[in-house]
Amino acid sequence: MDRIYLDHASTSPVTQHVWETIVPYYREIYGNASSVHGTGREARQAVERARAQIQKALGATHSSEIYFTSGGTESDNWALRGCAARCAERGRHIITTAVEHHAVLHTCDELRRQGYEITVLPVDAEGFVKPQAVREAIRKDTILVSVMMANNEIGTIEPVREIAAVAHEYGALMHTDAVQAAGAIPVNVEELDCDLLSLSGHKFGAPKGIGALYIRKGTRIQAMMQGGEQERHLRAGTENVPCIVGIGQALEDAVEGMETRSAFIRELRDHLIHRLETEIPDVLLNGPRTQRLPGNCNVSILGIEGESVLLRLDLEGIAASSGSACTAGSLDPSHVLTAIGRSRKEAQSSLRLTLGAENTLAEIDETVDKLKYIVQDLRSLRLQ
Ligand SMILES: *Cc1c(COP(=O)(O)O)cnc(C)c1O
Repeated sequence: MDRIYLDHASTSPVTQHVWETIVPYYREIYGNASSVHGTGREARQAVERARAQIQKALGATHSSEIYFTSGGTESDNWALRGCAARCAERGRHIITTAVEHHAVLHTCDELRRQGYEITVLPVDAEGFVKPQAVREAIRKDTILVSVMMANNEIGTIEPVREIAAVAHEYGALMHTDAVQAAGAIPVNVEELDCDLLSLSGHKFGAPKGIGALYIRKGTRIQAMMQGGEQERHLRAGTENVPCIVGIGQALEDAVEGMETRSAFIRELRDHLIHRLETEIPDVLLNGPRTQRLPGNCNVSILGIEGESVLLRLDLEGIAASSGSACTAGSLDPSHVLTAIGRSRKEAQSSLRLTLGAENTLAEIDETVDKLKYIVQDLRSLRLQ
């Protein structure tokens, strides 16, 4: 059975090019990047090449502003905890939003337990944070504003640049979780004017377990890890050279082919949404129609549970998601869908299909055809 993978927001395959680029760093150029001998120096060069690739892709001024981490979760944790620790004497107020990834929201919960005050801003019915809401919440003791660039569940692209302007007017730092945005839409740290920006490799064709945090030069932040001198003393531990090589190459490749790839994916996505809305009764689109990630489709199929649809799709070899993978298996409705005003029932009937470059129109059509049958079947079961 040919499998159809429509869960790219959870993770995406390592691309062929990235795979070929990283393999030599396991068994041939296996040196420790801190060693002085030849294989060590080669590893160091590879790490610094990857840092420069990311700097260039993000439009950062210095490659020394790019720090490698174990992924998006660590980057988010570091940005928030690291700034909170170093800015505490200036203030203890942090602003974030109700639709952030749990890596941000749960870190904020922890900071709240430590005595920080957290304002969680609401969003509108399409998931947008209003810059005006940031202006109303911000204070003299606000040290950090953290608003994601694009939402992982409903694809909303947030007005980060406008929000950063408000943050800076009040002397607060601006962090954005760009994990879903990178490689899908333009991400430029100068245009966004953010001080910290999180990336995760496995969302754009690099392996899992590698990420990066952009930290603008001069930003006050505490070290993530104590130990060796790696990553300018801020994130100790022997560098994961193959994966660092992978994230650098993956982001460079993703940015290079972005326009054509995103246009293709957007076309598939629009076809998918159109067919779902016109051929299945009582389907609600979650998230906006414009200012939306190219590969994101999220719908509530009223009257049935998203989990049941998922399982039936899985039996047909189609990988999808309901809510986000991080909350899969839990009965709580998605915090994002709740934040845009969906009822508990509507949220539990959600299905997220996220597309990638290797998907085809035929796969989308096959998915909708199977989905029509599955929904009809589940709805008739309910009536008996
Ligand atoms: C996947 C994701 C993360 C977590 O990244 P990991 O590398 O899996 O830890 C954080 N934020 C967003 C928006 C994500 O989609």
